[in-house]
Amino acid sequence: MNVPVYRNEPFGDFSSSERRAGMQRALRSVNGQLGVRYPLVIDGERISTEETIASLCPAEPTKVVGYVSKATPELAARAVEVAHARFAQWRRVPVEDRVRIVLRAAALMRRRKEELAAWLVYEVSKSWVEADADVAEAIDFAEYYARQALHHQATSQPLLPWPGESNSLNYIPLGAGLAIPPWNFPLAITTGLVIAPLVVGNTLVLKPSSVAPVIAAKLVELLEEAGLPSGVVNYLPGSGAAVGDLLVDHPLTRFVSFTGSKEVGLRINERASIRQPGQLWIKRTILEMGGKDGIIVDESADLEAAAAGIVASAFGFQGQKCSACSRAIIVASVYDTMVERIAERTRALKLGNPTAPETFMGAVVDKAAFNKISGYIALGQEEGRLICGGEVVDHELLKDGGYFINPTVFADIAPDARLAQEEIFGPVLAIIKADDFEHALSIANNTEYGLTGGLYSQDFAHIARAYDEFHVGNLYINRKCTGALVGVQPFGGFNMSGTDSKAGGPDYVGLFTQAKVVTEKL
Ligand code: NAD
Repeated sequence: MNVPVYRNEPFGDFSSSERRAGMQRALRSVNGQLGVRYPLVIDGERISTEETIASLCPAEPTKVVGYVSKATPELAARAVEVAHARFAQWRRVPVEDRVRIVLRAAALMRRRKEELAAWLVYEVSKSWVEADADVAEAIDFAEYYARQALHHQATSQPLLPWPGESNSLNYIPLGAGLAIPPWNFPLAITTGLVIAPLVVGNTLVLKPSSVAPVIAAKLVELLEEAGLPSGVVNYLPGSGAAVGDLLVDHPLTRFVSFTGSKEVGLRINERASIRQPGQLWIKRTILEMGGKDGIIVDESADLEAAAAGIVASAFGFQGQKCSACSRAIIVASVYDTMVERIAERTRALKLGNPTAPETFMGAVVDKAAFNKISGYIALGQEEGRLICGGEVVDHELLKDGGYFINPTVFADIAPDARLAQEEIFGPVLAIIKADDFEHALSIANNTEYGLTGGLYSQDFAHIARAYDEFHVGNLYINRKCTGALVGVQPFGGFNMSGTDSKAGGPDYVGLFTQAKVVTEKL
């Protein structure tokens, strides 16, 4: 099968009046489709439940983006059984046919880029630029994993010859698994978690986040339109607590592919390790979790570039990225200058409803996030010196009740303070003073996480040490620490940041396969 060379999907250029008009049209059109009900999809059958989950618009929480049906334990068990039953057929579909469906899905996403981005603006309060990047990444995952599957499955792997025998090694799919995505890249990560396993022949139950289930329903519709047979991906929104454990524990579940918090990831890891009655295999878990990402700035750095990179990494999408910079670790000799420059750039950020093109930061995702982040801001007043932001407004007093939090910077945070150790997942940056580069490196490595990190420096000796000693899955030198591109910067973290599966990398689809060797005596 011949497919064009993989290229990353270009980002939308909203300085073009045509693109701006297109996005405005998409926002108007999606606004007219809000509040609709979405059923579960099990084996292609639409099932509406009495109880629903309301997905709210974070910038205007009185607006319901959509109501999705909520799985009961019985329906969750049925979804796993269906995925297990459909595996027998789907695994036999030639890889080229599976790839064709995935490439069609990518083409549909490309055609509907603005519409999908508009759903993300409403459902999780992404700015236009962030929403567009989320859709581009989803397209990239589909295109990239399709090609990886062809490469991985088309031929038998090279083995050493042995006289009188034919030997072959092939990768075969695992079975029926779970895709459990977070809400913060609800199209990109969901697409990646679904496409990679299915393109190499597995079937799935997709349990989307209850905070962003509508965009996942759109993805499932789009996969059907691309020709995916019924039962290969089963759409099963439901509460993590009520059906999450049941799905993970089910004896027919073969693997769990999860991206989300450390707490839930570890819980899945523990539960999946227990053999249930009737279970034939050791469940495979692929768990990508949180971060407490730090950027170091040393005395040789381009300070303007460092301030720009830190602010972009800390406050893009309201700091709600696993890769977000939540610690700026600055050596003493440039500390005061850097604090000033970071503050200046932070104050210039535009907070507002993300339906407006000029908005840089929208609302944080929901009331629970608002309350959690507000708690950390209150704590920051005790642990450090407030530099900017920090006003915690009771969101109910705001005009439209949106969950808006000003970008907030605290300086003089101690390396072991809670603000320097715990994942806040919001627009709060802790600045930490280090004596010198050596000290900065030890502070950077001193958390339980190890996802992204950054260094701004012109000193090649420091850069070389960071290559070797800065213990994170994705290290960035002299640029921001967010925005990994599929195929270019495969993504995944060390330690409590996860199993380092490197999404968007050459080994990823292989995680959903097992190797089978056949020896035939000639
Ligand atoms: P979360 O852990 O609260 O939820 C993630 C998913 O797990 C959701 O779909 C949720 O419904 C489900 N879930 C909850 N309880 C469950 C259970 N008992 N069994 C099975 N599933 C259950 O995380 P979130 O708030 O959606 O996302 C934010 C977190 O994700 C942050 O910690 C962030 O750093 C992390 N994240 C990591 C990466 C990465 O690549 N490492 C990428 C994005 C987000």
